[in-house]
Amino acid sequence: MSADIIKGKELAHKLKEEMSKEVLFLKEQGLVPHLTVILIGDNPASKSYVNGKKKASGETGISSDVIEMGVSTSEKELLMKIQELNNDPSVHGILVQLPLPEHIDEQHVIEAISPAKDVDGFHPINIGRMITGEDTFLPCTPYGILTMLKSYDITIEGKHAVVIGRSNIVGKPIGQLLLNENATVTYCHSKTTNLIDFTSKADILIVAVGRPNAIREEHIKDGAAVIDVGINRLEDGSLTGDVDFDAVSEKASYISPVPRGVGPMTITMLLQNTIKAAKGLSKSER
Ligand code: NDP
Repeated sequence: MSADIIKGKELAHKLKEEMSKEVLFLKEQGLVPHLTVILIGDNPASKSYVNGKKKASGETGISSDVIEMGVSTSEKELLMKIQELNNDPSVHGILVQLPLPEHIDEQHVIEAISPAKDVDGFHPINIGRMITGEDTFLPCTPYGILTMLKSYDITIEGKHAVVIGRSNIVGKPIGQLLLNENATVTYCHSKTTNLIDFTSKADILIVAVGRPNAIREEHIKDGAAVIDVGINRLEDGSLTGDVDFDAVSEKASYISPVPRGVGPMTITMLLQNTIKAAKGLSKSER
């Protein structure tokens, strides 16, 4: 068997085209969706992510700006800036690029962003709403994964989904979203013994570990759908995921590649959330 490739980049492109039309329509009504990104310090990876977000916003007609603050910015200064943006009606989405310098408490920052403008979907109020299945901003990477599965008509209900990784931004929320879609969900992590016992029973396998070749052919059930979230930079500068793509493709029915898989979807869902925020659709608005 040779798996169908889940082309995240193509899907992201299609979704961005649809969003462009929606943004145009909103602009005609006098509503210009606006995303403000705060970047602290000069971490090259963070800068590159922020540039990607700015570029993608521009492609869909969403307006955006980046507030760059020095690495020595205090937590108080950052919280004041967030408060200012919370109170600015022309700003619909606020994103603080993570990670933050060590002297700033990430959780304080996440909780300072108004839940109605939390387009990253990290605020505890929005996470709570996701768990109870209410309409809210979903965290972008899990939202992107769910959109990929649905777009490829991969059945989730009644299936056994195994998630490897339990971070707050990927592993935990994607497991919850799959549970909301009526999958039976198993979480695995670094303390899981005999990982293969779980992965080999997965109809849907989500891999968010951050280690090349963490998942190989022997881990896979025949016909599984495999989503590789990992982004690992190899010594030659190229990017690779967590899954041995070539070997696993022979056994799985669907597989997402790295690059051009989950990554482009993550940014796209950020734009989707920004439009949602502009339209005031989130319950947080009330
Ligand atoms: P974290 O480092 O926060 O989490 C990694 C998870 O993998 C942890 O839960 C850890 O377990 C688990 N783990 C580590 N080693 C093993 C192992 N040997 N067996 C089983 N589980 C293991 O990473 P993130 O969730 O933030 O990201 C995961 C990967 O996804 C990274 O490569 C990251 O770059 C990428 N990523 C990609 C995005 C995209 O848009 N495509 C967006 C976000 C992340 P434990 O909890 O016990 O430590």
